[in-house]
Amino acid sequence: MVSDLLAKDIKKVKGVGDARARLLNKLGIHTIEDMVYYFPRDYEDRTKIKKIAELQDGESVCIKATVFSRISENKIRKGLTIYKLVLRDDMGTVTATWYNQKYLANAFEVGSTYVFFGKVSKQFGKSELISPLYEKKDAKDKVTGKIVPLYPLTSTLSQKVMQAVIRNCLLMIESNLKEYLPHELRSKYGLAEINYCIRNIHFPIGFEEYFLARKRLVFEELLFLQLGLLSIKKRSEELRGTAFRPVQEMDEFIQGLPFALTNAQRRVTAEIEQDMKNTTPMSRLVQGDVGSGKTVVAALAMYMCVKNGFQAAMMAPTEILAEQHYNSFKSFFQKYDIKICLLTGSATGKQKKELQQQIKEGIVHIVIGTHALIQEKVDFFNLGLVVTDEQHRFGVKQRAALASKGNNPHMLVMTATPIPRTLALILYGDLDISIIDELPPGRKKINTYAVDESKRERVYSFIKKQVDEGRQAYIVCPLVEESDVLDLKSVVEFAEKLKKEVFRNYKVGLIHGKIKSAEKEQIMRDFADGRISILVSTTVIEVGVNVPNATIMVIENAERFGLSQLHQLRGRVGRGQFQSYCILFNNSESKITKDRMRIMEKTNDGFKISEKDLELRGPGEFFGTRQHGLPNLKIANLFSDMDILKQAQEAALEIITQDPQLQEEEYYLLKLKLQNMFEERMNGIVIN
Ligand code: ADP
Ligand code: MG
Repeated sequence: MVSDLLAKDIKKVKGVGDARARLLNKLGIHTIEDMVYYFPRDYEDRTKIKKIAELQDGESVCIKATVFSRISENKIRKGLTIYKLVLRDDMGTVTATWYNQKYLANAFEVGSTYVFFGKVSKQFGKSELISPLYEKKDAKDKVTGKIVPLYPLTSTLSQKVMQAVIRNCLLMIESNLKEYLPHELRSKYGLAEINYCIRNIHFPIGFEEYFLARKRLVFEELLFLQLGLLSIKKRSEELRGTAFRPVQEMDEFIQGLPFALTNAQRRVTAEIEQDMKNTTPMSRLVQGDVGSGKTVVAALAMYMCVKNGFQAAMMAPTEILAEQHYNSFKSFFQKYDIKICLLTGSATGKQKKELQQQIKEGIVHIVIGTHALIQEKVDFFNLGLVVTDEQHRFGVKQRAALASKGNNPHMLVMTATPIPRTLALILYGDLDISIIDELPPGRKKINTYAVDESKRERVYSFIKKQVDEGRQAYIVCPLVEESDVLDLKSVVEFAEKLKKEVFRNYKVGLIHGKIKSAEKEQIMRDFADGRISILVSTTVIEVGVNVPNATIMVIENAERFGLSQLHQLRGRVGRGQFQSYCILFNNSESKITKDRMRIMEKTNDGFKISEKDLELRGPGEFFGTRQHGLPNLKIANLFSDMDILKQAQEAALEIITQDPQLQEEEYYLLKLKLQNMFEERMNGIVIN
């Protein structure tokens, strides 16, 4: 049976020994099935033959050309011999160049015609083909006239090996894959049969075949995602938690705030109240741009919960952010008899024990914390509401872990990376969505400038001028990874230089991920209290930090960040009454980078920015599994496949409505696959 075959270890495939298997494992490929569903990232089109005169620099092409002269052999030095062959077609001449390929010396006959495939290098109007492949006269395997897949690889695995391994897998399967999409669904949405698709996604016969294959595989990937999320939603709708009663004192609480709520905040608060009046637990996502005031909305929900006699908890992704929420909440609730505590990893063992005891006994009403909240030892007396802030940092699993500490508590998810509504509806298919689409009044646009090195001195003078006027500045340096030691060293050196030379008369602080959290918090506190004027930082400050007196955000190597991240960082300024500025140092000449910088200069709207980000970056980086806890998309592109996405969503809804448990015979295989997929990728969230 072919399903047994699919589950077999990749080592069972011809050409895969221990060493190769280890490399494939690194790519997440363990079984034959993994291999067959490991899709190419790109293709080489070796089907079309171009005229030599039309060759463009940098492209990989086929030409059909006649050998004009004998191959020349030129020994440059020991270990480097260059072979050159002059080729002609009726329109032009091109030189083919190879390095150290001794066997080529007698490979070509002058006056004979061959097909070549290679990358064009064009300099001073002269074209060259670099190390081209060519069609040998009577070779078994053709190298041209076909579309060749290119796979995402690790260092020592070659495309050739990868192609061969996949070819062998396909030979073993012999087109015996069982179709798991119901026939009706396939004919309704024009989806090709699975064996056809798998063959043609790897080794397309032609472009039409490729597009058909891709369409189905994209559709199925998105369909599974939708079905998974909708099943989670269906299941949570069947849960029974606690219905909260309306709370009279809410109005009083709102009156007591230092500001009037915006209409959007009121609307979203009403949606949340409405949800929490039901026994079905709330599962709601609040989307809102940076600074739109999501925290107070969470505070209102938590107030309602506490007034109903239940505990509320809020989980933030970093200690700095948790502490900041803790402080905001203390000020929101100071007039009320509500006990709030902060639980993070940096509390001492004794403190933790004490807090845990108080949480367990219900002495504490509101708990703010980091991942420390989901540790085993933390038990609640009666947890009624769970809030996760900046949800893109948490996975579905962590959300569920916190919720499991109560009896089906209400759940509120706040995200700071707003995404277009259509996409949110799909990606957060398990949640209801509220949008705060309005900023508090009086916010000024943050003036944004993308500059290059030539403006550095001017930028420094500008910072000094602002600081002399009493303001503060951030200077953010990117690290590829917070753990990257070399990079970190250069940031530390850069900060030292700023401290000792450029801003030697100013108070400069440095903060990065390797600094202990107690010290980090001290530095942030010093900055918040004005004891530090210029804060040099890696991206640890990214989320949520609130220092209204800071008016300048300088971002070094801005080209290394995604747009949404730049927008987040920029959101650290413009939080007070002063005009604020964002300066993006960008040293890249590429058009796409320049376009991105232009967008940052032009707009302050997070929704627009995320849409552009998606378009320019591609969704892979944007929606990594790490960020969303959703299955990694292997083939679908959330931006360019929007049409298929909508169809898949429609199909999923239809299926779930008709047969919520997928019990019908025609869904049997589909359900199996769905279960496997979600169990693996969503860390054990089971669909039933
Ligand atoms: P975010 O949505 O990014 O989490 P915050 O909740 O941190 O935003 O709010 C940003 C700032 O705006 C805070 O200083 C907060 O006190 C303030 N704020 C929130 N709502 C209002 C409002 N309706 N009017 C004025 N200021 C507000
Ligand atoms: Mg926030």
